[in-house]
Amino acid sequence: MKIDLHTHSTAGSPCSIQTVEELVEEAADCLDAVCLTDHGSTAGAERALRISKELRFPVFIGVEAWCDEGHFLVFSTGRLPTGGPFSLQEVAEIGRADEPVIIPAPTYRNGGGEDTAGIVRRNRDLFAAIEVYNGNCGKFDIINILRLADELGLPGVGCSDSHGSGTVGVYYTEFEDEITSVEELIRAIKAGRCKPAGWSL
Ligand SMILES: [Zn+2]
Ligand SMILES: [Zn+2]
Repeated sequence: MKIDLHTHSTAGSPCSIQTVEELVEEAADCLDAVCLTDHGSTAGAERALRISKELRFPVFIGVEAWCDEGHFLVFSTGRLPTGGPFSLQEVAEIGRADEPVIIPAPTYRNGGGEDTAGIVRRNRDLFAAIEVYNGNCGKFDIINILRLADELGLPGVGCSDSHGSGTVGVYYTEFEDEITSVEELIRAIKAGRCKPAGWSL
């Protein structure tokens, strides 16, 4: 099952140029499900779930959490870290009871800031997986992240990080099982029952 775990809409991300409806309609043409992960916001969730129902196409809601250490995809069956910035530790604690899945989205942040790999290494135990493919990254970024995932023994996921038309699903994550809820999504990622993939590979 092809799922893009990381996308943005104008409803919750000022940097995006696609509406929730445009995003979900496009995703339905090339994927089996999509996750809406706006920057520290779930403002588009209601609309996303409405169109999901209309199209009978699964949409799961997460956030790209705003942390002092960078950006992290978070999925949880309970609270999500909206707002921010938080520390990474705070994000882990917000969802502790819900066992959130936290995925570093390390390839697209901190240009010139603290070393991305160092942050991921130091916080390794908080992560269930790492975003190895990101639609906004060049080949050499991706190679570095693949090496880091290998070094840390973290499973990789693929994501478009789509902000506008024509980019959703360029990378995605292939799941072995049928995923029908955020709970199943979390369980499959934690069990490593998925692998990164993409139309552009
Ligand atoms: Zn953005
Ligand atoms: Zn993003």
